[in-house]
Amino acid sequence: MSIIDENRRLEDIDREFIWHPFTQMKEWLEEKPIIISEGRDCFIKDIYGQWYLDGVSSLWVNIFGHRKKEIDDAIKEQLDKISHSTLLGLSNVPAIKLAEKIIQVVNSSIIHHPSSLNKVFYSDNGSTSVEVALKMAFQYWKHKGNNEKNVFVSLKNAYHGDTIGAVSVGGIDIFHEAFGPLLFKTYKAPSPYCYRCDLGKEYPDCKTACLDRLEEIFREHSDEIAGFIIEPLIQAAGGMITSPPGYLAGARELCSKYGILMIADEVATGFGRTGKMFACEHEHVVPDIICLSKGITGGYMPLAVTLATDEIYNAFLGEFKDLKTFFHGHSYTGNPLACAAAIACLDLFEKEQVLKHLDKKIEILETWLKEVLHLKHVGDVRNAGMMAGVELVKNKKTKELYDREEKTGWRVAYHARNNGVFIRPLGNIIVIMPPLSISEQNLRQLLRVIKDSIIEITERS
Ligand code: PMP
Repeated sequence: MSIIDENRRLEDIDREFIWHPFTQMKEWLEEKPIIISEGRDCFIKDIYGQWYLDGVSSLWVNIFGHRKKEIDDAIKEQLDKISHSTLLGLSNVPAIKLAEKIIQVVNSSIIHHPSSLNKVFYSDNGSTSVEVALKMAFQYWKHKGNNEKNVFVSLKNAYHGDTIGAVSVGGIDIFHEAFGPLLFKTYKAPSPYCYRCDLGKEYPDCKTACLDRLEEIFREHSDEIAGFIIEPLIQAAGGMITSPPGYLAGARELCSKYGILMIADEVATGFGRTGKMFACEHEHVVPDIICLSKGITGGYMPLAVTLATDEIYNAFLGEFKDLKTFFHGHSYTGNPLACAAAIACLDLFEKEQVLKHLDKKIEILETWLKEVLHLKHVGDVRNAGMMAGVELVKNKKTKELYDREEKTGWRVAYHARNNGVFIRPLGNIIVIMPPLSISEQNLRQLLRVIKDSIIEITERS
């Protein structure tokens, strides 16, 4: 079979058998799928040999580029020992070493006082790390003898994953509304979305009124609130919505004041994306529980951790008969290959001083964002470090949205794709989140193609 025939066969089989996530399959079936066969540094290659700049880090996971030798080697080395054994009733070497390392990294980054986030609970992906956090927080209060605290507070525009618990604390109508009848009760606080403020106010005159609203919810319902979950600094999937300075620290204070556990979902923001190892660091916030995934393995393997304080962990200690055990765990919990990749990834952070080299790239990105803000159909630009969003609008003065059917964000992404850059928008928000290792030259190329694509789609066609 010729290569062309084999490629066509792969396309047909994909269309026939794969149900792609977050994808309208009717549209997918009408298009020619891009099938990736290889990757190198910040580029991915399709089966026809076309290379694309990976502008979204393979869905926000890749940190050091593809085929990073140190991570490749760590996985190969682990393969020669064992690929998987369970953490239920056993332990394994990479899971232990990673736990030590991750606690050390978290402690040296966000914790400035001893005895805090010292317990690591493994799972496989961001959504499960959130499920674990919610169940832990809920059960913690039961073990403390408080049976009233059964409700979570989350934010409008929040995204914490796709499992039902994570969807319950989500706040993106187009993704989450359909599942309403299945979801547990939550209180939703306004999104700290200054460009489209729910409270109709303007920053900084508002004096962060969204925090006052959060406090009202806490004050009225603290007896029943188990925890508050937040994506620190930036609501990523909600549209790269950056919260105003002080919001995160203010939310932390309120959680402490009203006896509410703070869960920081750093699945997207963790591991350097915001310019610091963890987003919580920017406002010196120490959460009670932190969820980490995506970049933890450098974008190689599915792995997540939920870190909890000693206080939470200790509440689960008891006699076997007390049933204080945390009854949660997955088949691949603490998978040795994934843990080996994560150890290599954390070593690379040290070895390559990744965070130190980010400043210049963030500067390039921010300069570019200021430039594109002048474009006719760019309403707002936002970033937290290397996570950025460009909000396209039909009318800049009125902030009128494009009709969904126009698929403006997607058309920009397709245009970029035809010019060698892979990006995936969130509605009409263009997302820019390349691997942290991207060279300045490739970053400039990425930004140039995206800007040209925005102009071409919003001004010329
Ligand atoms: N939390 C946040 C903040 C996320 O951005 C995501 C994924 N985009 C998740 C949780 C869910 O992660 P996963 O897709 O690995 O389940």
